[in-house]
Amino acid sequence: MTSATRHVRLSKASLGEVEREAVQRPLLNTFLGMGAEVKAFEEGLAAYLGRPVACVANGTAALQLALQGCGVGPGDEVLVPSLTYVASFQAIAATGAMPVACDIREDDCMIDMRDAEARMTPRTRAVMPVLYAGAPGPLDEVYALAGRHGLRVVEDAAHAFGSMAGNRLVGAGGDIACFSFDGVKNITSGEGGCVVTDDAAVMARVADARLLGVEKDSAARFSGQRSWDFDVTAQGWRYHMSDIMAALGRVQLARRQELADRRQYLARLYLSELKGAARITPVLKSVDGIIPHIFPVRLHGVADRDDLRRRMRDQGIETGVHYRPNHTLTLFARPDAAPLPVTDRVYPELLTLPLHPDLADDDVAYVCRALMSMLS
Ligand SMILES: *Cc1c(COP(=O)(O)O)cnc(C)c1O
Repeated sequence: MTSATRHVRLSKASLGEVEREAVQRPLLNTFLGMGAEVKAFEEGLAAYLGRPVACVANGTAALQLALQGCGVGPGDEVLVPSLTYVASFQAIAATGAMPVACDIREDDCMIDMRDAEARMTPRTRAVMPVLYAGAPGPLDEVYALAGRHGLRVVEDAAHAFGSMAGNRLVGAGGDIACFSFDGVKNITSGEGGCVVTDDAAVMARVADARLLGVEKDSAARFSGQRSWDFDVTAQGWRYHMSDIMAALGRVQLARRQELADRRQYLARLYLSELKGAARITPVLKSVDGIIPHIFPVRLHGVADRDDLRRRMRDQGIETGVHYRPNHTLTLFARPDAAPLPVTDRVYPELLTLPLHPDLADDDVAYVCRALMSMLS
């Protein structure tokens, strides 16, 4: 129980009257499946990113279908940082391929490409960098390694909608990028996600696979029809997006700048509040060009993070831990694999502070004061 008068949520969607009105549209015209709203959301995303986009049911499905669109499957291996949401690992495993847990860089918690290269085998087919907290991380190194060895790159950009990678938007270049629009991401469609790539063959396979492998069914659905006489040549899933989700996503896409500006502003407040705190190191050192999805910090000299989280909770402050490393999960543990010393060292020190567009300015000061007083 908490005696605090304030309740600071870790993350939440920012929803208003426009969103509530938008989701009425599919309800009123009684078309709830994948139709004109999904088509319009895809077109809006494609116009923003400058590349073809396929919307799907969630970010995990986007990752799975992107890999499968590249032909990744049983017997293949995919390099991925251990410090990511289990979605990345499950998406790889769902294709029949094996996720190979890689260590991270100490400074930004992103995949360490030297470690990743050392874990390559003749079965390595792809690398899945995770754009942790919304930053691009070592994407240049990822593409350099992929280029040398002919690997596909599927960027887990679930955190990074709206962020820049060099002088372009994340998703506007590179091989394949996957976004998530789940309820707490930078923009949301309730649940949802998308695949972005210039590779027309991958795009065609993703478009069919989201509708049970029914060939060219997407075009029919977008015009309010469906295919009756069709062929199926590959495994598919029921992974399409519905018009209800897309109607919400379209409003959030239109609001993206406002939502992004607020996240950046709040992260900069955190950075200035925490500047003098010797035992707290923000993972993001700057948010220039970055739309931060989460605000993780590293705590130094804290023996019991769970106890600290309980005491924050008593002050009404929710915190998170992004993430339990996947190589410590029963399903993905590989006792024979080389150790991941940086991940093992950093993980117990990670704490995620509240960040979402509806957070008040003085919530940031309140959170920082509470945390700093516990560490003094
Ligand atoms: C949210 C997320 C996903 C999966 O997206 P869903 O839409 O929840 O399926 C994948 N990877 C990371 C790092 C995420 O944060």
